[in-house]
Amino acid sequence: MNKIIDLRSDTVTKPTKQMLEAMFSAEVGDDIFDEDPTVNKLQEKIAKMFNKEAALYVPSGTMANQIAIKIHTQPGDEVICDITSHIYNFEGGGISFNSGVSTKLINGDNGRIRAEQVLESINPDNIHYASSQLVSLENTSNKGGGSCYELSDIEKIRTVCTQNNLKFHLDGARLFNAITEKKYTSTDIGNLFDSVSICLSKGLGAPIGSIIISSSEFIQKAKRYRKLFGGAMRQAGYLAAAGIYALDNHIERLKEDHENAQELVKILKQQSYIEEILPTETNIVIFKLKNDFKDTDFIANLEKNKIKVVSFGPQTVRMVTHLDFKSEMLSEVEKVLNGF
Ligand SMILES: *Cc1c(COP(=O)(O)O)cnc(C)c1O
Repeated sequence: MNKIIDLRSDTVTKPTKQMLEAMFSAEVGDDIFDEDPTVNKLQEKIAKMFNKEAALYVPSGTMANQIAIKIHTQPGDEVICDITSHIYNFEGGGISFNSGVSTKLINGDNGRIRAEQVLESINPDNIHYASSQLVSLENTSNKGGGSCYELSDIEKIRTVCTQNNLKFHLDGARLFNAITEKKYTSTDIGNLFDSVSICLSKGLGAPIGSIIISSSEFIQKAKRYRKLFGGAMRQAGYLAAAGIYALDNHIERLKEDHENAQELVKILKQQSYIEEILPTETNIVIFKLKNDFKDTDFIANLEKNKIKVVSFGPQTVRMVTHLDFKSEMLSEVEKVLNGF
């Protein structure tokens, strides 16, 4: 019997044996007393990778973004971001709930916004308007099909932010996927943003955890909000050890996920029932089915054949490659898709 092929998300991975060994042997302490050596090591390591002063380990990517937005804004302010942003669409309305801020949504190019669009979106300094305070980018863009920014485009937005006194945040849940495909480094990214969030539990394959990276002053505030949001943990070093292992061992291999995604695209392109596939740059493949081919039936039929995917809008399906999706599974996916 074939095993289930799970293409729903890169969050479905389970720790490898080596990662578990690193977790089991972690040295731990009470992180609320700042006494967990493994959490401290992870935070110092990643801050250094981004040429930033400090970092904070948090339970989820959502919490990392929400804490950053909270620190950068006051109630009544406005965040400028793409209309497909995770912070706007997939964080439970947290921008308004946690920070009491509104959003100015930009119609970008598969999740990417441009400096001119940011400039046009800044509200005038006039009592009728919310005060524009923060620009948030997403790299790679989830709803944009894993699209990546060019460094020069980020630099142009940085300039707009600097000239207009706006803070600049990056939702870098899958930043290392972008870094794998583009020529820039984590240091380049760290130098451009005021704060960056990173997920350890997506392509990097850790079971839990995200990081916020910024200045020491910002991270001091972030620690307060992490506690307030209920995310301060005790012997979290067991989890942080997985993060350290992931940073040391799972960044390079992301290119395999990208290669597998390209193979999936090739297979999908052969199918007559596919209407359109978003440009695939990294590990996310988003495609639309022709109207006479019902998405719910397609997803259910895949499920019957032990292949899991997610619905990503009307007639739209997402597949994500990851550590536990092996290239040997491609032929099974091809066989099933060819059979519809
Ligand atoms: C997954 C994701 C997050 C948040 O992740 P959680 O850990 O599930 O809260 C944030 N931004 C993007 C772009 C994501 O894909």
